[in-house]
Amino acid sequence: MSDMAWTRFGKKKDMPGGLWIKCESCGGMLFRKEFEQRHRVCGNCGYHFTLGARERIALTADPDSFEEHWRELEAYDVLGFVDKMPYGEKLKATAKKTGEHDAVVTGFARIKGMPCALGVMNFAFLGGSMGMVVGEKIARLCEAAAERRTPVVLFACSGGARMHEGAVSLMQMAKTCGALTRLDRAGVVSISVLTHPTTGGVTASFASVCDLTIAEPGALIGFAGPRVIATTIKKELPKGFQRSEFLLEKGQIDRIVARAEMRDELARLLAYATGGDPVAAFKKESAAPAEAEAAEGQASAPATGTEPALAAHDEKAAKTRARRKKKE
Ligand SMILES: [Zn+2]
Repeated sequence: MSDMAWTRFGKKKDMPGGLWIKCESCGGMLFRKEFEQRHRVCGNCGYHFTLGARERIALTADPDSFEEHWRELEAYDVLGFVDKMPYGEKLKATAKKTGEHDAVVTGFARIKGMPCALGVMNFAFLGGSMGMVVGEKIARLCEAAAERRTPVVLFACSGGARMHEGAVSLMQMAKTCGALTRLDRAGVVSISVLTHPTTGGVTASFASVCDLTIAEPGALIGFAGPRVIATTIKKELPKGFQRSEFLLEKGQIDRIVARAEMRDELARLLAYATGGDPVAAFKKESAAPAEAEAAEGQASAPATGTEPALAAHDEKAAKTRARRKKKE
């Protein structure tokens, strides 16, 4: 697998226009329509391409369940930073190009009826880099989740801290970890999903300190990139270095879950986390909403069986809260 693959993400080179695209990993030619239907997973080798935040939410959350929060937050040029263009201009241009204000989308959603706080990073926005807005949104999400006693699911996809914001971006590492610590103290579960690529300050902060760490297959996960490390230590790196499978073997992540199974797996874990029935959560409607929509053209139809499960979940949560209150 080429380590060049992720460095090219966000540029048009990896997704030439037309009917066919070339797989970054196996070099096979993929029919674009089929590739998009498979949610950007190679049909030949199973390579998981980077997925946009909105597409990820559509694939993961129950239809129409996502309620976005803090979309209005915008970064500003705190340093007067200029590379090819002033940072302020770059932010405006990127917002126009992507339709997003920054590199993470946050809010509350349901996954197969299970409520969760959801934060999804968007690599298309300045390489999914974490600056003041990403840090603030993740922190607010954790605070709101602690208040609501709702588990947090964070999808990471990032080149690291945003250098345009200097120390302010590095401070977000401490802030997000602090917010997750408070969430933990409140007894609320957090799940981190590492997707290709998750690197730098994001790997070194919130993405690595959740209760559970899941990764998509073949994702590059690390702090510095493999070539930087190889050049620094002047040694050949082991095969599969910094890939999900390697990290699972070393115990850095808890499990690998393919994109097609992610929704089922998250529902099951959320059910465990909230005292629901994981078996029931797993059995219910296994097709991802985006797939179901494509198949049946029912864009606004709610997931089958979602509401009764949610009612049961809410009832159980209310009972748990009452029990806790009694103990206090
Ligand atoms: Zn492939």
